[in-house]
Amino acid sequence: GMAVFKVENVEDLYEIGDVLGSGHFGQVRHVREKATGTPWAGKFLKIRKNATSRLGLERKAVEREVEVLQSLQHTNIMALKDVFESRAEVVLIVELISGGELFDFIAEKENLSETDAIEFMVQILKAVGFMHSKHFAHFDLKPENIMLLDKVVPHPHIKLIDFGLAQRLDEAVEFKSLCGTPQYIGVSPLLLSRHRPVLVSSRVWSVPVCQAQGSAGVQQGPVSVSVDCLSLCHKLSQGWGPCFDPGSVCLPVSRDRMTAEECLVHPWIKPLSRKQADNRSRSSINMKSFRRFNARRKWKV
Ligand code: ATP
Repeated sequence: GMAVFKVENVEDLYEIGDVLGSGHFGQVRHVREKATGTPWAGKFLKIRKNATSRLGLERKAVEREVEVLQSLQHTNIMALKDVFESRAEVVLIVELISGGELFDFIAEKENLSETDAIEFMVQILKAVGFMHSKHFAHFDLKPENIMLLDKVVPHPHIKLIDFGLAQRLDEAVEFKSLCGTPQYIGVSPLLLSRHRPVLVSSRVWSVPVCQAQGSAGVQQGPVSVSVDCLSLCHKLSQGWGPCFDPGSVCLPVSRDRMTAEECLVHPWIKPLSRKQADNRSRSSINMKSFRRFNARRKWKV
């Protein structure tokens, strides 16, 4: 059946504040809960009035985003508090994420050690691993959707946002209907060329692409990168070729591609010895080329 959202007027319960960002179907605004004074973010989504209208989102798509967020309660995933609905709009009340985008935070830093990078990677991989364990895929994982709860703390806390394209993987998905951002699409490139249902694919695709692009500095400049970092990068570049799971009807899964859980126990992320741990902390990525990459990315967006 149809999901039921609160029909009270959101403005009776929340003070609506400044615009924090905007997407295809509406705005995200700062809101304050009147009863408690607690700040939240409100994601205001325009709903399509009828099937022929080209404006707004289908209600079903909003229901799906809500369902995904309700199923994915994890410390590194944006939390959903409440949902309101009026005639033309659905408002998601979500956790306020004030630290901006991870990549902007990194670009402002003097330097980034491998230890810093690993701290962020671990949080992203934990969120993705959790998502996959619940049989969901984000399908739009990219730097714009990796945010920080707060950036003026010693160890910033990552929050993944924008589950507008996320899907349950056990409900076969017509691939044609998916439209992530091509550079970062959260699936195997092999899938892109085939209009087949995706049954399950719990391998890590976008994380390495984000990482590779983000660490563009790794390939250039005089900075050396630890052997373990190179080893993980190498492994994450494997498995782009065709490989079909013989046990299923149409499940193009590359066995060479690592899962999030496997990444989390790679020696670069989880060193086995003191020596490995010491190795990695000394090197740092080339910030100059990272900043160049980030500026170009923002310009394209
Ligand atoms: P798109 O059209 O890109 O899919 P969308 O309509 O699904 O976007 P989001 O990507 O979820 O919207 O949010 C749009 C922008 O609003 C984000 O890029 C971010 O800057 C800001 N934003 C989203 N959620 C929050 C939040 N919880 N706290 C603070 N800012 C947020």
